[in-house]
Order: sequence, then C-alpha cells, then structure tokens
Amino acid sequence: MKIVHRAPLVLPMASSAIADGAVLLQDDTIIKIAPFAELQAEAGQVVDHEDCILMPSLINGHAHLELSAYASLAQQAVTAGDMVGWISRLLAARMADDEGGTQEAAGQTLASFQAEGVGLLVDIGNDPACCQPENNMVIETMFLLELLGLSAERAAAARTTLVDVADTQDLAVTAHAPYSTATSLLQEIKKRANRMGSLFSIHVAESQAELDLLSSGQGAFRDFLEERGGWDGSFQPPVSGSVAYLDKLGLLDEQTLCVHAVHLHPTEIELLAEKRAGVCLCPGSNRFLGVGTAPLPQLLAAGIMPAIGTDSAASNEHLSMWREMRLLGEDHPQVDPELILALATKHGAAAVQRHADFGALMLSVHGHFLAVRCDDFNEPFEFLVRDAAPKEVQWL
Ligand SMILES: [Zn+2]
Repeated sequence: MKIVHRAPLVLPMASSAIADGAVLLQDDTIIKIAPFAELQAEAGQVVDHEDCILMPSLINGHAHLELSAYASLAQQAVTAGDMVGWISRLLAARMADDEGGTQEAAGQTLASFQAEGVGLLVDIGNDPACCQPENNMVIETMFLLELLGLSAERAAAARTTLVDVADTQDLAVTAHAPYSTATSLLQEIKKRANRMGSLFSIHVAESQAELDLLSSGQGAFRDFLEERGGWDGSFQPPVSGSVAYLDKLGLLDEQTLCVHAVHLHPTEIELLAEKRAGVCLCPGSNRFLGVGTAPLPQLLAAGIMPAIGTDSAASNEHLSMWREMRLLGEDHPQVDPELILALATKHGAAAVQRHADFGALMLSVHGHFLAVRCDDFNEPFEFLVRDAAPKEVQWL
C-alpha cells in the first residue's frame, strides 16, 4: 500500500526544502520525496498535513536519563561557573537517595523526548535499565556505560568494571572526563570503544575548573578530590587544554564525541577539525551552570558541525531539544536558524556516527518522521528554532 503524506513544507534536510511537498511511503519505508504534484498519481491514499512541516526526527547527542530524579538541583540557584559545587550537591543527592523513582523518572524523561520528536538519544550513565524504551516506542537509545577514577585506587576499580564487561558485546563503555579519569584508563576505554566500534563520548573543556586542573593540577577540582579521597598525586597535569591533552593521548578520531567543548583554544579547534572528532554542544546546561558559551561560529568556520544535547535534568531546568536549539540561537544570533536545525538533525546524526539511519527524511528508520505544526510559513526556520512556543509534534 502506497501512502502520500502531503504538507505545505517538507524539509528532507539532506536536500533542499520543498514547498507543497510530499513523502511517499510504501510498507512503512520512504521511497520518494518530491513536490506533491509529482507524487499525486502514485498514491493509493493521501494524508494531508495542513499547517505542518514534515521533517526527520531530532537527535539528542547527550543526556543522562538516570539523573532525571534529581531535577530539583536544576531549580536551585548556582554560583556562575561553580561546577564543583553542583557536582557536590548531585553526589550528595545520589548518596541520600533510596533508589526509589530513578528508573521511573528516567522513563518519563525518555517518553517526553519522544513526544517532542527525538528519534535518537545518546545516553550516558551507570544503569542501562534507565535507558530502555518501551516496546511500543519509536525512539532509539545509544547507551554508554560511563567509567571514571583519577587516583590509582579508583582507576583500578573502574578497570575491574572494564574487565567485567569485556565479553558483553552490546554494552558500550565510555569515559567521564579528562579531569576525573586517569590517563591510562582513558586510553584503555578508548581502545575498547575502537575495538567494539562504539562511540567514545567524553565531557571535554566544560569549565574553567577543568582547565585549572589540567594546566596546573590545582584549583577547585583538586580541592574537591582531596576532600573526597580521590586525589593521590598520581595524576600528572598535561599542562594543556583538554582537547590538546586528548590529542596527545591519541584519543581524537571520528568515533570520539567531545561534549560541551566550551573552553577551547583556537589551536584545539584546528585539532578537532583535523582529527574529524565529533562535538556535542549543551547550551542549556552550560547556561544553567554558568560555565560559558561554546564557540559555535569558530567551530563552524573550521568545518565542524556539532550535535546538540540536552544534558541531564540535574543541570538543565527544562529538557527539550527545541529549547536547546533556541538557546543556541540566542547565544549565537549570527548563526542561521536553518543551520541550527541541521545541527539537531543531520549533522547531529553524523557527529554520533548514526548518519546511515538518522538525521534526514530518506533515512528515517522504519519510515518514522515528524509532522510539526507551524504558525509561520514565511519564516519556518525562525518559527522552528527561535520561537519559544511549545511545538506540536506528531510522529508519522
Ligand atoms: Zn553530561
């Protein structure tokens, strides 16, 4: 059975926008995208989506579903840039937790992402059970088990986990951050990721405190680790930025996703481009924590097309990819909203190495794509990216 979905505007993303466009489906597979006039004769059935834009689903390149239960942290004021204080409060909240409600809250977050049109979510955490779509859901998740440990003792504990999961072929493992993970452990995790062909997603250059630790071994993270018994003096500060450090360790390649990427030296942007490493920006989380703004125009000028991610409910007061696009546009008003939409779709899919399945209409897995109600067909990208009104999204 052939079905044509017709709308005033179709955004294939991999090719130009089509006014009065149509998507031809056969057995739940998209077989053609063209002006409606060209497909009219082929359809057994025409479904009209008046006032809608047809487009591929969104890619959320960075989330922590298991932190959904700690959304109250993002309702409390933070001192701008005080990431260490926020981490302390998060750890205290997790310690005090009776484990009740974590999976339930994660499930609700996952459902809300699907409801707003997210088709693929990269989720970082400790518990794969928090990242399981129900059978009837269309959203797909990429779960990465996160390891960390800077002192010899804590790195050894993480290494034990790495050994324990060695034979679990479908479990991808990744590292938390350069300031929290011992040098050799970073390399071992990356080696496994490359062997498994899995994404190596790592928080990179997020805060000034991170740069302080890497440049001098001092600062708020050093104090924090010493207080918690996580500092034994074995970490040798690389005396460089985070990206330069990862490059020196041989960790930058297409399968590496540098998340946040706020504090980058211009030479580090060149390194990311040269090594074709992926980048994922989290404007909402960066704004909440007050850690700074990622240099999007400079990344774009270097040919780097970042993904966009919401990060977790503990560091972002409202989890929505539409809001992330809007905040990114507010941070960088000179960047075309059409490009920002492309970051949340096709470029995001490429950055997380899923461009064969996601990010463009023709690739929509099992024919799933979105009809998004639009109030302004004169400026559709302004409406999608800059307008704060909640989006009415229907999955097709
Ligand atoms: Zn994160």
